[in-house]
Amino acid sequence: GTGLLDGATIMVTGASSGIGAAAARLFAAEGAAVVLMARREDRLRELAEEITASGGKALASPGDVTDPDHVNRVVTETVRTYGALDGAFNNAGWATAGKPLHETDDSVFTQALDVNLRGVWNCLKAQISAMLESGTGGSIVNTASIAGVLATGATAPYIAAKHAVIGLTRAAAEEYGQRGIRVNALVVGSTRTELIEDVLKSAPHLEEAYTTRSVQRRMAEPVEVAQAAAWLCSSRASFVTGAAVPVDGGWT
Ligand code: NDP
Repeated sequence: GTGLLDGATIMVTGASSGIGAAAARLFAAEGAAVVLMARREDRLRELAEEITASGGKALASPGDVTDPDHVNRVVTETVRTYGALDGAFNNAGWATAGKPLHETDDSVFTQALDVNLRGVWNCLKAQISAMLESGTGGSIVNTASIAGVLATGATAPYIAAKHAVIGLTRAAAEEYGQRGIRVNALVVGSTRTELIEDVLKSAPHLEEAYTTRSVQRRMAEPVEVAQAAAWLCSSRASFVTGAAVPVDGGWT
């Protein structure tokens, strides 16, 4: 084939909707075998069937990223099915509409840190172990956010978690750079997905900022974020690591 990701096996978390689902479709179209992880099993199976029906390779492997046992199982299943893990898009995330910090329930802090940060942590440990074992290196992409570099348009716990995702990305890139493992983060701007629709339902005043702070005066479509992830997973990005790559339509 002539795809950007021919022959690669790539795990995608948060693959049941939004950016992750778009990435799964794109990676498969570019020749990768994709392993889909999220909690909603029906959606994962449907997507895996859709990809397989159009000639791609996909495996639905449901689970919760906050549970290291689930994550380890998905990585093990990946290696057993496709022989190795070459790439990962750690994209599962959770956000809720904002209240001021002092009124925010502690459960929001716990959930924001568990899904957005601990989820990436669990994935990195399992994926890096598998990549070191195969000895062929790999490329890992973590979904951060504008909220990972600026305090904007989100709750404080989400902002803290996404900042930490960028820190974890840099730490991992530094530790494994000499062993052929690249680790990057995507600094994603407002993107039309269920996550943002949910936030806007309870905070409609944010819609204007989410649109007008991009110099393109619009939100991204999920596939536009997926394209950057595909590039980072591919050998075209062979000298890119430890980077926080903006995909934000020019945020001002
Ligand atoms: P979606 O809500 O469409 O996707 C979120 C995905 O994460 C779903 O597939 C969901 O699947 C999965 N997920 C949530 N919790 C867990 C969990 N505990 N274990 C496994 N999977 C989980 O939103 P997006 O596509 O927008 O979000 C993708 C990423 O992009 C997130 O990290 C988000 O923070 C980030 N982002 C989004 C922006 C936007 O404007 N949309 C802006 C900046 C960053 P399921 O419920 O089936 O588990």
